[in-house]
Amino acid sequence: MAIVDQGEKLARDVIPTFKWRHISWVKELGIEVIKDTHAQSVSREGLHLKDNDGNESVRACDLLIVAGRRESNNKLTSELMFNCDELYTIGDAVSPRNICDAVHEGYRTGVRV
Ligand SMILES: Cc1cc2nc3c(=O)[nH]c(=O)nc-3n(C[C@H](O)[C@H](O)[C@H](O)COP(=O)(O)OP(=O)(O)OC[C@H]3O[C@@H](n4cnc5c(N)ncnc54)[C@H](O)[C@@H]3O)c2cc1C
Repeated sequence: MAIVDQGEKLARDVIPTFKWRHISWVKELGIEVIKDTHAQSVSREGLHLKDNDGNESVRACDLLIVAGRRESNNKLTSELMFNCDELYTIGDAVSPRNICDAVHEGYRTGVRV
């Protein structure tokens, strides 16, 4: 089993409470970590990789889990924008972060309204 990450460290956006546990599981279970590497495509040969130095390789695999970068979905904001007097966008719809940010923004907005 292997984890491919384009950065130099795993779990950069994971809160510290969980991070140390997840990182230690990776070590304990002997999961290989392939850092500084981009997944480029999938073919019959496997997953095609390219590291930050431009070296290309193919990794055979029978199961692949894609967990790419998260993106905001704020379609509802643009749809409602001209149909109400006040509109507030909070949480991941602003930018993907964590539950604490979403809850705090909900609280702050609720108090202000
Ligand atoms: C795989 C994964 C793991 C995560 N792990 C953690 C973690 O361990 N700790 C942590 O703090 N954060 C974690 N997060 C981030 C956290 O889940 C989000 O930051 C948080 O849920 C954002 O809350 P939100 O209310 O803004 O958005 P969401 O929780 O995404 O809620 C938005 C809701 O709006 C609904 N919706 C969208 N469009 C419409 C529409 N047009 N009409 C009606 N409903 C609509 C969606 O279906 C959804 O239910 C994780 C995220 C992912 C993807």
